[in-house]
Amino acid sequence: MSLTLYNTLTRRKEPFEPIDPANVRMYVCGPTVYDYAHIGNARPVIVFDMLFRLLRHLYGAGHVTYVRNITDVDDKINARAAKDFPDLPLNEAIRRVTGATEKQFHDDIAALGVLPPTVEPRATEHIEEMKRLIEALVARKHAYVAQGHVLFDVSSMPDYGRLSNRSLEEMEAGARVEVAPYKKGPMDFVLWKPSKPGEPAWPSPSGIAEPGRPGWHIECSAMSEKHLGPVFDIHGGGIDLVFPHHENEIAQSRCAHGLPVMANVWMHNGFLQVEGEKMSKSLGNFITINELLASKAFGASQWHGRVIRLAMLGTHYRQPIDWTAERLLQARATLLDFADLLASVEPAAAPNADVVAALSDDLNTPSALSIVYGLAKSARRNADAASELRATLDFMGLYGGETRDALNVGVEAVSVDADKVDALVAARLAARRAKDFKESDRLRDELAAMGVAVKDAKDPSTGEIVTTWEVAR
Ligand code: AMP
Ligand code: ZN
Repeated sequence: MSLTLYNTLTRRKEPFEPIDPANVRMYVCGPTVYDYAHIGNARPVIVFDMLFRLLRHLYGAGHVTYVRNITDVDDKINARAAKDFPDLPLNEAIRRVTGATEKQFHDDIAALGVLPPTVEPRATEHIEEMKRLIEALVARKHAYVAQGHVLFDVSSMPDYGRLSNRSLEEMEAGARVEVAPYKKGPMDFVLWKPSKPGEPAWPSPSGIAEPGRPGWHIECSAMSEKHLGPVFDIHGGGIDLVFPHHENEIAQSRCAHGLPVMANVWMHNGFLQVEGEKMSKSLGNFITINELLASKAFGASQWHGRVIRLAMLGTHYRQPIDWTAERLLQARATLLDFADLLASVEPAAAPNADVVAALSDDLNTPSALSIVYGLAKSARRNADAASELRATLDFMGLYGGETRDALNVGVEAVSVDADKVDALVAARLAARRAKDFKESDRLRDELAAMGVAVKDAKDPSTGEIVTTWEVAR
């Protein structure tokens, strides 16, 4: 068993050595529950689910503790609650927003083949733990009270900035934000802050009379410590969390306990973009998981959760991912093939060892999937290979015995103008022959957006490339 993982803290791939192989411990920052999770949010959920599955396979299902929190205290939640339920008292409105959003999140990600984490703590249930951490930080002179706030004093930590690889001087030079008057240093960050009347509020840490609420970063320090201890194995999240969120989590947890580490390995997934652009509400390319699963977003139809999962795992987790209709069409075609192949096949006892080895190399899912595709070829002729394929897909959360029709959910008879498609296919082939790959890719995407998948093959007698097409269904 040799697992290597890329560690953001050391900027290299390292052999993974759990602190306690009988209890491998991982924490991943979960969603802030104020709105539907978007397809970018699904990426860390799927990536770290894959890692959770691998760790369970390597160390035993009962020997891994995976904590993924729910952030249910946040200014965005308050704003949403006030907007959606203007007639309710704010705290009641907040409970409505967080309760409904959390349920939606669970339903959405269950459809993506994501296993429940071992523990799913809520921030609001760990306020006492946060206060204790904050008081320890003040007692150790790493934090100070000012105007109803408690702030972390970054100058008190010599290696603040190690995770994001920046020195305090660099950060201060780059800080353009107006510095709040109660801060001693411009990079000092909030551990606790006052609440306005009507906002959620708890009795403050000692030294502050007025009630208040925690800052975001302290939530994860408190929840990870409660469920995993002050030092644990793996901490994960999206690349945008490296600074300031994870840098500040490390500062809080280490300084509160006087320890040199919080988590041994820090892992970050790359960002998801849509059709080459940043996903944002203003660009109109913002897609929620729920829209993909349940309605008509992105291309001709609705997509089964396993299709979305396969499309996501086709790119290595550290690379940026470009989310396209083509990617979903291909994933669906692949899964339909698998469903045909495995309709009445029982899973073997264990997944394919080469797939496990590829995943053990810093979660190399593209390499694992190419082994899976090879296995699928053998499975056409060989019953043992078919059973192994079934077990491997099960292990990766990619196929759980769904029928072809189930995977084809939402696909309606798509009618296409065959002459137009023929013309586009011919233009694409001409562009390929002229080695204008940009144009040929553009044409393939145009076809994909019409719901048409193209397939290139070499004519065995002439060696010429021939292209066939079909309405993807
Ligand atoms: P948030 O609710 O914004 O804190 O995000 C929850 C998780 O989703 C965090 O781990 C983020 O890093 C991650 N995330 C947000 N947007 C994207 C994106 N476009 N691509 C990949 N991960 C993302
Ligand atoms: Zn966090």
